Amino acid sequence: AERALVAAWAGPGATADGVPVKLLANVADGESAGKAAGEPVEGVGLFRTELCFLSRADEPSAAEQADIYAEVLTSFAGRYVVVRTLDAGSDKPVAFATHEGEENPALGVRGLRLSFDNPGLLGRQLDGIAEAARRVGTETWVMAPMVATVAEAADFAAQVRERGLKAGVMVEVPSAALLAHRMLEVVDFLSLGTNDLTQYTMAADRMATDLAHLTDPWQPAVLQLIAITAHAGRAAAKPVGVCGEAAADPLLACALVGMGVSSLSMAAAAVRPVGARLAQVTMAQCEEAAEAALAAADPAAARDAVRAIVG
Ligand code: PEP
Ligand code: MG
Repeated sequence: AERALVAAWAGPGATADGVPVKLLANVADGESAGKAAGEPVEGVGLFRTELCFLSRADEPSAAEQADIYAEVLTSFAGRYVVVRTLDAGSDKPVAFATHEGEENPALGVRGLRLSFDNPGLLGRQLDGIAEAARRVGTETWVMAPMVATVAEAADFAAQVRERGLKAGVMVEVPSAALLAHRMLEVVDFLSLGTNDLTQYTMAADRMATDLAHLTDPWQPAVLQLIAITAHAGRAAAKPVGVCGEAAADPLLACALVGMGVSSLSMAAAAVRPVGARLAQVTMAQCEEAAEAALAAADPAAARDAVRAIVG
């Protein structure tokens, strides 16, 4: 029965009672964007630009970057694309950007932090993104990874807006979630990266398979931080999305929507199962699921409680 519902669902994302939920795709390059564009999504919620450069020894020029970004924007003409600036470092080494020999790369100079001692790297990437946006015309939003302070968000947003684009930051460090309301005073949108938010909240390496019980976005502490961020978005009337793996879990997706998240971005293959599940439940059920998840003592209890309401 579930399979028939998934096959019959054709978008756009909405609850059974018609509350719209933007469903978006996570993409890595022009090729994956071309495939994702065939799914019933309203755009790209996470373009991981660092994945374009994993095999590059030298930094591509702004012009060369513009050509690469333009491929993704072209696939999504008439929709919108959230481009994430380089998230090099830790689990994604990029030869021309990553700092070598760090004791603890996950807590080191990664993501936006690379621009602290190398502002030109970010400037050239923003030039490339702006040039691609101008050339193709697809609505383009830009966000930074690994933002920990409001000052970082404000500085990044100024550089993005200077180039005429919408600016946001990822919420994947607990400090950013706790200060979401202040972040929203300086940016246009937030995007929860639940993979890293879980890693940093639980102090458990996302790659460590023996810690999988801790690196679980259903952990109550992670759900609390997501709820804080989503509430701040509602209060500020600005978009707060989820682009981590949590968005691809149909049950958790319902609870996230109930918390107030306005978009869900996921691997293209997850879009239909998530869309079909959301179409079966009302916003009131999503809100009930969110409350039940937040009240649960542990991940298993949270899953069971949500499944009982929206499963
Ligand atoms: C995340 O951390 O949840 C995220 C979406 O970014 P990445 O998986 O690329 O670190
Ligand atoms: Mg991340």
